[in-house]
Amino acid sequence: MSKRMLKDGFSRKVDYLRMSVTDRCDFRCVYCMAEDMTFLPRQQILSLEELEQIAASFVALGTRKIRLTGGEPLVRAGIVDLCRRIAALPGLQELCMTTNGSQLGKLAQPLFDAGLKRLNISLDSLDPQRFRELTRTGDLSKVIEGIDAANAAGFVHTKLNCVVMRGRNDHEVTDLVTFAIERGLDISFIEEMPLGVISEHSRAEAFFSSEQVREKIAERYTLVPSTESTQGPSRYWRLAEAPDIRLGFISPHSHNFCATCNRVRLTVEGRLLLCLGNEHSADLKSVLRSHPGHPEKLEQAIIAAMQLKPWSHQFELNDDVQVVRFMNMTGG
Ligand code: SAM
Ligand code: SF4
Repeated sequence: MSKRMLKDGFSRKVDYLRMSVTDRCDFRCVYCMAEDMTFLPRQQILSLEELEQIAASFVALGTRKIRLTGGEPLVRAGIVDLCRRIAALPGLQELCMTTNGSQLGKLAQPLFDAGLKRLNISLDSLDPQRFRELTRTGDLSKVIEGIDAANAAGFVHTKLNCVVMRGRNDHEVTDLVTFAIERGLDISFIEEMPLGVISEHSRAEAFFSSEQVREKIAERYTLVPSTESTQGPSRYWRLAEAPDIRLGFISPHSHNFCATCNRVRLTVEGRLLLCLGNEHSADLKSVLRSHPGHPEKLEQAIIAAMQLKPWSHQFELNDDVQVVRFMNMTGG
């Protein structure tokens, strides 16, 4: 196992990489994408081999956890094989994926067999019509089939992710908790972040805080605060009625977690983003393509990039102020 360790300019240890493996998706969620999206041409995105090389360099530099995301990671051809190769990197403790679940019906078992350890599955509504409205193209029954396939394949600690929007799905949060309990899943509720310019709704008007979500859930369940932490923007609670289930609340507008931030993100164009809410980045694709067969050049570039990691993000809940990147570009 690597004894090396990545540290940023504030002495924070960085041992968690989120990698976007595609900017494409079979859904068009209203908070994530515009209805008409132009995706990147193939030559601009990292090949599977390049993704694997970058993962290998990070693991050699002490990365313990990698999350594959997108876009929708399961629409990338060759994803199962990529998982197998990354999962086999010596020193990596956990390979996870965030997915919309639509392809899990057929892929859950091959992914589990390839060494993928954990899944986060996005689910914003249990009503087929509302689900279609929020995702613009999604079929709820496919996602539920995917969730059940993940459970059957052997995945444990699977987590549902739900972005809560006032007037759209805020009245469903308690039913979503009940759904999670019935299937033995953790669930996290996410406040919408101002990533990418969208016109479908006003983010300020749709804002529904984590505290408001907890108030709704407390009408049916007893919430017990928990001190668990993953060094990110999540705060955890348990339910007296179902103590095995973990409830997470992701409040990206809060700055409280920046001090312990241990993560960086790679876009599928090979841009290393040092903070979700800032544009600081390093171009790893050009390093990789100008020095083929020299992994030490890539490692040097990664070590140098750590100095660009800012102390904290700068989200504003104001429809005029936006981080220009869409979430599917950053690997959410
Ligand atoms: N396609 C996969 C999925 O939906 O799970 C992975 C990529 S998606 C960008 C990752 C997560 O980001 C999802 O849980 C999604 O709900 C969330 N997300 C997307 N746009 C968001 C936004 N503007 N604010 C908060 N969460 C967002
Ligand atoms: Fe696709 Fe995930 Fe974005 Fe929805 S949130 S459009 S599923 S990438």
